[in-house]
Amino acid sequence: MNENNLVGANKMDDLVVIKFGGSSITKKADNKFEMNYDILNQSAQELARAIKTTKIKVALVCGVGPFGHTNVKLYDLNNGIKNKEQEKGVEKTISDCNFVAQETATALEKVGLRPKLVPGYFVCKQDNRKVISFDTEEYVKAIRGGFIPITTGIMVKDKTLKWSVMSGDTVVAELCKQLRPKKVIMGTDVEGIYTADPKIDSKAKLIESITKENVPKILEMVGESACVDVTGGMKGKLEKLAQTLNGVPGEIFNLFTKRNLESVLLGRDIVDTKIRL
Ligand code: ADP
Repeated sequence: MNENNLVGANKMDDLVVIKFGGSSITKKADNKFEMNYDILNQSAQELARAIKTTKIKVALVCGVGPFGHTNVKLYDLNNGIKNKEQEKGVEKTISDCNFVAQETATALEKVGLRPKLVPGYFVCKQDNRKVISFDTEEYVKAIRGGFIPITTGIMVKDKTLKWSVMSGDTVVAELCKQLRPKKVIMGTDVEGIYTADPKIDSKAKLIESITKENVPKILEMVGESACVDVTGGMKGKLEKLAQTLNGVPGEIFNLFTKRNLESVLLGRDIVDTKIRL
């Protein structure tokens, strides 16, 4: 069976793939190794309410902000692991990213949800920073068993580089490609995708709808993250979505705004960026 036959074999059309961006659940903008518990707990509560109302199934992906990006820069972990110092850096990064996963799981448990950690290095292998295999079996098992799988961006085994960075956005893309969910939604710290970085350019305008027609032009405009980000920021996000949505509706919204997550999950209209490709 070739790869195309496998894609969609586990199709889950009652599934919503949710990303909690590192810019929202960690103190990414301040470059601090700290969780943003206010946003994490608010999001967990809204998620629990929406699941109660709609009975949707959820796979949760977390960005890790400084817990990943700052370590990766400090130890130079995305260009090949060549010495003991970097090996230690890989260990520290994995442990820091697992902390984000654990804190997220605790927030979900507190509101009565059942999380199941699925560490990225168990399911994904890369070669030269590109995914060569991503096994979704653990996700399907967890979701069918009534759990919410949680995966963060993290270091994974790399055929050429020993270890490389797998971003949360890569996990979203793989789950979307293979499971063909009902929807992919990504919470971040701005309202969506703008004509320029809204943190730098006060004239930047929110792009409310991205379609096949306007996506090439938008990809030219969009910049990377204003923070320390080794995985491509907003541009990387849109590039990956453009390659994988293929009919699955996508939405990028501000996770800081109260009730946004709940509204998006309930199918209510909010001010954000809706993507149909
Ligand atoms: P997350 O950590 O939530 O996944 P990122 O840091 O990767 O998010 O990307 C969000 C950041 O991207 C925003 O905080 C913003 O500063 C920056 N950014 C750059 N260009 C744009 C753009 N055109 N539209 C929106 N945000 C942008």
